[in-house]
Amino acid sequence: MTIKIPFVDLKLQHKPIQTQLQQAIQSVLEQGDFILGQALSDFEAAFATVSGTEYGVGVASGTDAIALGLQACNIGTGDEVILPANTFVATLIGVLRAGAKPILVDCDPQTALIDLEAAAKAITPHTKAIIPVHLYGQMVSPRQLLDFADTYKLLIFEDAAQAHLAQRDGYVAGSVGIAAAFSFYPSKNLGAFGDGGILLTRDSDVAKKMVRLRNYGASQKYFHTEPGTNSRLDTLQAAILHQKLPYLPQWNRDRLTIAQQYDAELAPLATAGIIPMHNQSGTGHVYHLYVIKIDESCPIEREKLQEKFTAAGVQTGIHYPIPCHLQPAFLSLGYQQGDFPQAEKLSKQILSLPMYPGLSSSQVQEVVAVITQAVSKDSPLENPASASVENIAA
Ligand SMILES: *Cc1c(COP(=O)(O)O)cnc(C)c1O
Repeated sequence: MTIKIPFVDLKLQHKPIQTQLQQAIQSVLEQGDFILGQALSDFEAAFATVSGTEYGVGVASGTDAIALGLQACNIGTGDEVILPANTFVATLIGVLRAGAKPILVDCDPQTALIDLEAAAKAITPHTKAIIPVHLYGQMVSPRQLLDFADTYKLLIFEDAAQAHLAQRDGYVAGSVGIAAAFSFYPSKNLGAFGDGGILLTRDSDVAKKMVRLRNYGASQKYFHTEPGTNSRLDTLQAAILHQKLPYLPQWNRDRLTIAQQYDAELAPLATAGIIPMHNQSGTGHVYHLYVIKIDESCPIEREKLQEKFTAAGVQTGIHYPIPCHLQPAFLSLGYQQGDFPQAEKLSKQILSLPMYPGLSSSQVQEVVAVITQAVSKDSPLENPASASVENIAA
């Protein structure tokens, strides 16, 4: 099946800035400082500044930013960490690697963001931190989070892997908690030419410990204060990311414009059970993903709709088809089917539509047309009887 509208298109993003990206790469080749080089510290400082915080420590991936970042915040053995069940597994893997006990909670079905009332019920004397995942590009309300953390005396560790420069309540993603983890996986809102991640913090002790942890736990060369690891963001990747950073606000605005068009064009389909995820943060949502729900009242099932997209040459995704607690790898945590009903229901109803800077308004119309056609009562594909009538009429 030929792809007419891809899910993401990175070539479109890089083509117009190809010359400057090549120059940035060339300049690192000439410097030769491939590990912990100048372009890395420059990018770390720049990304921390635009995100409204102090320090940035580049690492090999978003997963490492979570795992090492929690350790840098002294969260580990004996500590419980609350996180949503409907996140990408890397959030959970990070908690486990830090040696802490993950406590999963359910989500708000309107936004898919962590349900703070459910989180409040999960608190025990061992709870040390909460990880709000700013899922799909929308921040968990900073005002509510800060209230929550203040009430229960918990640390906030943001998973901002999908939310570069997202804003809400006057806060930028990464500036709310003690620290925040970002991913630069190529298809994230800000993506490298390979894997990468960063920890942001305004706490100089956390930053210093993170600098040690990513570099074999060394406080100076060949003097090791803790068993760290090797997880550094390559100088080359940092140079590329720094070139791309000035374009990120415009790319995010493009995503918002596309989302607004989807919202407007999908509005008439609400009665047919097609419900876009709710935007509670206005222009601060950075739409890493544009996600709709196909609810019970919809005449077509999610899997059937996805097949129609495939047939029409439109790529779609599901983020995520199995909640963390039902993944075979984590069954030993002791959770079961039914523990997180909203997350479980969402996993069966959600569908992510194409979303990337450069997706044109006519392409958005084409995507919506596939859904309109699929849910319409006299859809020839849905209803064989009417299809034959139409064929005869033609
Ligand atoms: C992408 C992602 C991660 C992991 O980042 P990697 O760079 O792929 O390791 C963590 N959490 C969330 C929510 C993500 O989307």
